[in-house]
Amino acid sequence: MSSGISERNIMRPIQYLKGIGEKRAKLFNKVGIYYVNDLLEYYPRQYEDRTKIKKINMLLDEEQCGFVGTVVSKVSESRIRRGLTIYKVLVNDSTGVIAVTFFNQDFVKSFFLLGAEYSFFGKIVRKGKIFESQNPAYEIVKPGVSGKQIGRILPIYSSTAKLTQNIIREAEKNIFQLVSNEIYEVIPLDIALKYKIEGKGTSLRNIHFPNSYEEVERARYSLVFEEFFLLQLGLLKIKANLENNKQGICFDARENIIEFLDAIPFKLTDAQIKVFNEIKKDMESNKIMNRLIQGDVGSGKTIVAAMALFKAAKNGYQGALMVPTEILAEQHYESLKPILEPFGLKLVLITGSMKASEKRKCYENLASNKAHIAIGTHALIEDSVTFNQLGLVITDEQHRFGVRQRAALSSKGNNPDVLVMTATPIPRTLALILYGDLDISIIDQLPPGRKSIKTYSVNDAMRGRINKFIREKVKEGSQVYIVCPLIEESEVIEAVSAEELAERIAKEDFKDLHVGLIHGKIKPKEKDAVMHAFIKGEIDILVSTTVIEVGVNVPNATLMVIENAERFGLAQLHQLRGRVGRGIHQSFCVLYNQSKSKISAQRMKIMEESTDGFKISEKDLELRGPGEFFGTRQHGIPEFKIANIYNDMNILKLAQEAALQTIKEDPDFLLQKNSLLKARLDEDFIYFSKNLGFV
Ligand code: ADP
Ligand code: MG
Repeated sequence: MSSGISERNIMRPIQYLKGIGEKRAKLFNKVGIYYVNDLLEYYPRQYEDRTKIKKINMLLDEEQCGFVGTVVSKVSESRIRRGLTIYKVLVNDSTGVIAVTFFNQDFVKSFFLLGAEYSFFGKIVRKGKIFESQNPAYEIVKPGVSGKQIGRILPIYSSTAKLTQNIIREAEKNIFQLVSNEIYEVIPLDIALKYKIEGKGTSLRNIHFPNSYEEVERARYSLVFEEFFLLQLGLLKIKANLENNKQGICFDARENIIEFLDAIPFKLTDAQIKVFNEIKKDMESNKIMNRLIQGDVGSGKTIVAAMALFKAAKNGYQGALMVPTEILAEQHYESLKPILEPFGLKLVLITGSMKASEKRKCYENLASNKAHIAIGTHALIEDSVTFNQLGLVITDEQHRFGVRQRAALSSKGNNPDVLVMTATPIPRTLALILYGDLDISIIDQLPPGRKSIKTYSVNDAMRGRINKFIREKVKEGSQVYIVCPLIEESEVIEAVSAEELAERIAKEDFKDLHVGLIHGKIKPKEKDAVMHAFIKGEIDILVSTTVIEVGVNVPNATLMVIENAERFGLAQLHQLRGRVGRGIHQSFCVLYNQSKSKISAQRMKIMEESTDGFKISEKDLELRGPGEFFGTRQHGIPEFKIANIYNDMNILKLAQEAALQTIKEDPDFLLQKNSLLKARLDEDFIYFSKNLGFV
């Protein structure tokens, strides 16, 4: 998305800017900055207050403070020990003298010139009678020019080893000069006045080059508001477009759902019934259903999906259920086939690893309408798959799919109804923003009789006992999952890789048992073989990286051990944990917490105490903030440049209110005061639509 600057400059790649050549541009690209507007919206992470400047005789012991003075001594050098040399220079002003020391920075020897004036900022300590400033920041004082680093509030950006703070600050300064008179206001004046939103140019200047924290506060408020306001309007617009589109299929109520329900071995929960009724209403209307079903792991989303498929098929349409892994596709196929086929409905399974001849037969059946329901993986969206009458598209575990893939499947029908299912428990307030284009149904109840999973957070000291416990479980005939988290490339040096850890556990710790190993370096075929062996009970312990997180059902598995649990989001831990506790036996989850931090301990405690996915995710969001909460793997969730969904909830509410007011008053943005807003939203709409898969 672009900020409110004219088209010409937004799309200007940064490498043509003053001070940035091809080489530096690459450094900026690495942190996601390609164009002018990316740079303008690369906001400081925090600030360092370097405004406090005192006369030397007013400095206090232990304070962070700045001072300005003249160098009155040569730089002395004393070698304390091998590898530690201290450089010292004396500086005075009209009130007194102070020593400035540097550790191992031999270039200061030639930097400080006797009789020249410098400013400093850093920690002040008393050394006997004289004060000393140790390793302060420093710069030369140029008459009439204000300091770059000292005497001001210094923005701190996310930097890398090569892309330093100074390079970023310099670039921000240059770019701001370049575009400052091209910045236009996107927020309509009445909204800006009502909500006290500052001009965009002022906000941008104050966020990057503030004179006071008050300026930062005001700028931040305005920019966060704008970000939420535009997002809300964008989503409301998409939703309005969908709702006005009356080209959807009108299914009727000809199916006999009671007959279907009589055929399944349990009674639906009230929550399942409520959600199915919401789906039914959508399907029977002429608008295109676009509904998200949220339900905790094990809440029984599959059967609700099956009911919708049953309804579609009984209406003479075809339905498709797309899932992220082959194993899951097979499991769904195996469990739904016996329920649906007695009603004369034919199911086909389509996965990538099927033989070409098998696939061809399935394709034919779908094209000719002989098959009514297709269950499969991404293989379903391949070109060779065509439907005769696709009327309903369902994706399970939607967070694993790009929204484009969802759209690709939809495009195989003529405006089919769409259902997406997810177990990622997103607090309702957030869901409204993130999925503002979807209607949301929540299965907020688990089937009766589930035993809660006993969860324990442990450290390495417990490894012996835990390993014994694993062996006991295996002896009892239970199966065990051991999960090792994938580690970001940048961290590999300090942590053992998931592969190494998994190999060690599989090949050393439990080498006498039947252990299956799955990780990124193992070929898909082998992976599947291991998964199948685990499902059949031929393997006692499945050691894996996080590939099992998604939907598999092995009721005989009763223990889950998670290594480096502190590295996972709690919502993800909760999903992982949901792999056990599916049978009649008491299940357990052991979390190895390798971190000594207080937050980690608190997070593990939440896992020990709660089994409610929504509560867990709300707490996690509170502790970690949304950046980490959502992680980087989430698709379709917009990344915020400055807003923090959790901390800025109040601003979000205001922006939501303003967006609703705007769209109510002027749904098509035809009023003059909204013209720039319209232009901006059209531009964003293209962006959104692409990202959300609508074009
Ligand atoms: P998820 O929502 O995680 O996809 P599933 O649909 O896989 O959950 O359901 C988990 C298990 O619960 C399945 O074995 C399913 O047959 C069972 N189940 C679903 N609904 C009910 C119900 N109302 N009563 C009892 N068991 C149910
Ligand atoms: Mg499921």
